[in-house]
Amino acid sequence: MKSIDRRRLLQGALSGALALPFMRAWGAAGTTPAGAGSGRAAAAGPAPAATVTRLNDHMAVIGGADWNVLALIGADGVLLVDSGAPGAAAAVTAALASLGAAPVQTLINTHWHPHATGGNEVFARAGAKIIAHAKVRQWLSVPHWVPAEDRYEGARPKEAWPTQVYYDHGSLTALGQHIDYGYLLEAHTDGDSYVHFQDANVIAVGGVASPDRDPELDWFSGAWVGGRIDALTRLLKLGDARTHYVATTGAPATPAQLQAELDTMTLLYGRLVGYITKGMNTAEMLQAGIMENTGRTWQDPQAFMYAAQKGMWAHYNTLSPEIV
Ligand SMILES: [Zn+2]
Repeated sequence: MKSIDRRRLLQGALSGALALPFMRAWGAAGTTPAGAGSGRAAAAGPAPAATVTRLNDHMAVIGGADWNVLALIGADGVLLVDSGAPGAAAAVTAALASLGAAPVQTLINTHWHPHATGGNEVFARAGAKIIAHAKVRQWLSVPHWVPAEDRYEGARPKEAWPTQVYYDHGSLTALGQHIDYGYLLEAHTDGDSYVHFQDANVIAVGGVASPDRDPELDWFSGAWVGGRIDALTRLLKLGDARTHYVATTGAPATPAQLQAELDTMTLLYGRLVGYITKGMNTAEMLQAGIMENTGRTWQDPQAFMYAAQKGMWAHYNTLSPEIV
C-alpha cells in the first residue's frame, strides 16, 4: 500500500492513428473502426446473442451480460483475452465467425473467475494454449469455498487449466503484435493481470476496473481497496490519453473513467482507515456516510463496503502511520 502514487498520471497523447500493416481487413474493408462504447451490433448465428464492439480493424470486444472477451484477429488465427462466462463459448465462437476469424490459437486469462474462464476448456479442446498467472491455475485446479453462495466449487476440467503460467510478467508476439502481460496484486482477486497490446493501444484489465457497475473486491481471494488503488495507478501509467481499457464487464473504458475510479477508491481508502482506527464496524461506517459523495453511483453500497472492510482485515498491520 505504501507504493500508492496519488499523482495525476495521464500523459499527453503518444500515439495517433494506427497503421498496422499485417491484418486482413474484416467486414467492410476495415473502414469501420469504432470508438469506445460505439459500434455495438448483435452477432449473427443461432448461439445466444453476444455484442461485438470493434476497437480497430483487427480487434474487437465480444460481450455478454457479465463478461467480455477481447479478440485479436489475424490472418493466421485468433488470440483471445478471457473466454467468457460458462456457456458463452458458443456465442463467442459465433461472433468470431461473423468477423471471419480463424480458430483460436492463444487464450490469456485476466483472472480465475468463471466470467473470465468459463469457456477455457472449449477453446483448449479446439487447440488453444492458455496463458495466465499461476494463481489462475491454482484456483481452477483445486476445489474452493465460495462464501457468498455457502458452498464448495469443484475443480475445473484439466483442459480448462492454463498451460503456461507466469508469476510476475511476460510477453509474446502473436499475429504481428507485441503483447505484454503482468500481475496486478490483490485488486479484484489474488490473480489479476493486465494484457497490453501496445501497437493498438488497448489494455485488457479484467475485473480491476469496473466503469459500469460497482467494483467487486473478492476479499476471500485477497482483493482489497489498497490493491485496487495500486493496480489502477499502474494501469494508468501503462496507457496514455488514447488508451482503450477493456474490463470484464461494460463498454471499453477511457483513461478518465479509470482515473475517476482511482479517485473514488483513494477517497474511500482514506475514509476506511479513519473509521477503522475509531473501531467502527461496517454498519456504523455506512451510518456515518462513508459511501456518500464518492463521485460515482452505487448499485449496492452496503455490499461493496462489506467486501471493502473484509479486505482490510489482512492489512490492519499497515494502517498505523508509524509503519512504513
Ligand atoms: Zn471477476
